[in-house]
Amino acid sequence: MPGVIKRAITKDGSARLIITDSTDIVKKACDIHGMSKTMTAVLGRALTATSLMGSLLKDRDNTITLQFRGNGPCGSIVCVGDYKGNVKGYCDDMTVELPPNSQGKLDVGGAVGRGSMYVIKDLGMAEPYIGVSPIVSGEIAEDITEYYAQSEQTPTVCSLGVRVDRDNMCYAAGGYLIQLMPGYDESIVDILEENVKKTGSISRLIADKMSLEDIAAGLFDGIGYEFFDEFDTDYHCGCTREKYLRSIAGLSDSDIKGLSEKEEPVEAVCSFCGKKYSFSIKEILETRENMRKAPDGAGNE
Ligand SMILES: [Zn+2]
Repeated sequence: MPGVIKRAITKDGSARLIITDSTDIVKKACDIHGMSKTMTAVLGRALTATSLMGSLLKDRDNTITLQFRGNGPCGSIVCVGDYKGNVKGYCDDMTVELPPNSQGKLDVGGAVGRGSMYVIKDLGMAEPYIGVSPIVSGEIAEDITEYYAQSEQTPTVCSLGVRVDRDNMCYAAGGYLIQLMPGYDESIVDILEENVKKTGSISRLIADKMSLEDIAAGLFDGIGYEFFDEFDTDYHCGCTREKYLRSIAGLSDSDIKGLSEKEEPVEAVCSFCGKKYSFSIKEILETRENMRKAPDGAGNE
């Protein structure tokens, strides 16, 4: 079963809800990366957030990259998403395991540490949009809320959750964003805050097999709303042998010289999906020559 995103808006246009069951996405990430319990929660939350944020992109070719550069033991986290909420991601160290935090939860904040969070949106313009905000807790959801407040001036509630079993496998994951729209009715703020508190952990509700519709009904309790769309989401990489070949063939002269001198096939492993590619020096040099003749890639595909 794929993941799913559903989106709803209040009847008066004051607030929108983007909610997802990302269990399948996080399970696939577990299969690919073989993560520790703590890292399943770290990457699972980051992937879920990226999926939600990606679904707010406007166009088919737009992408969003969510990057955490914290000083915690897991190093950097990189997740990339598209406008349909499809995502991929990895962390520098997927094996980090920490004792539970003071609330007895997986210590996501401890693994991520403090530093900066980057949101890079490629909207098909000459330059990408880059937003930066501080990592306030490393728990991911609070950091996303901070980003929306600071960089996009959009009051946002973000909730993310990942449940992990004894075998380090995710059995429930999900999240939501509630965003106040320009000119929102002040009176709904208190109602939403109360509803969010009453609703509690989204991953627990998903583990209890509650539907996204029922969770949304709780979050918008007392407020008129309607769903306006939904779509399936997936863990999707999209790397190809051709893309890797062209990026290796485009390396600097000295790098290519170094590779040629080794006289061994050049190996590349995709950080997002784990696929391995191998290229002979001969085909790298041929591709390099072709790229020189037709720098825009014409005639090479
Ligand atoms: Zn890949």
